[in-house]
Amino acid sequence: MKRRLVLLGPPGSGKGTQGELLSADLGIPTVSTGALFRDQMARGTALGVEAQTYIAQGHLVPDRVTNAMVQSRLGSADAVQGFILDGYPRNVPQVGVLEEILATQGLAIEGAVSLELPEDLIVGRLLKRASIEGRADDTEPVIRERLAVYHRETEPIIDVYRSRGLLLPVDGLGTVSEVADRIRRVLEIVA
Ligand code: ADP
Repeated sequence: MKRRLVLLGPPGSGKGTQGELLSADLGIPTVSTGALFRDQMARGTALGVEAQTYIAQGHLVPDRVTNAMVQSRLGSADAVQGFILDGYPRNVPQVGVLEEILATQGLAIEGAVSLELPEDLIVGRLLKRASIEGRADDTEPVIRERLAVYHRETEPIIDVYRSRGLLLPVDGLGTVSEVADRIRRVLEIVA
């Protein structure tokens, strides 16, 4: 069973929701960089204060900050048996850093589940979430910027994982449970 996983997909593709379901299925934690940053911001830590400016504009937090945070999180006892990364790696250099972090323990990513969703649905989903969750970075101009950053910085990662034979594409269209079932099948959790 694959237990060191990356979830890929545009903002609003359902990575957070699917990550939690998969986490319950596999008994391993999700590591969401977005959630880690929001927690740091809520607690007003130095890291949170630094991240805040970038997140509010829809930009990526500098790699130096993000990589250190992920390295520390993956070093926790509960991540030893596996983890589901949501929101990391988010650019090609982060793919290499992740590889190095794991390689020091003789480990590697075993699969990259990529949620595929038509672009026109994404903005609508994010605006809807904005009205429910009230996230400061879910306003329309910031959403547009996050999507631009996604296409420029994050989408190239898909080809990197494909070329390594790790990419597991999943149709992200449908209900939460339909998508969850597709993920279980692609990971061979169910037949
Ligand atoms: P979404 O899934 O809607 O894109 P996230 O919760 O994953 O939102 O991330 C929110 C914000 O946190 C991003 O727009 C970015 O500013 C920051 N962030 C999250 N992960 C990373 C990362 N790996 N590298 C840099 N910045 C990140």
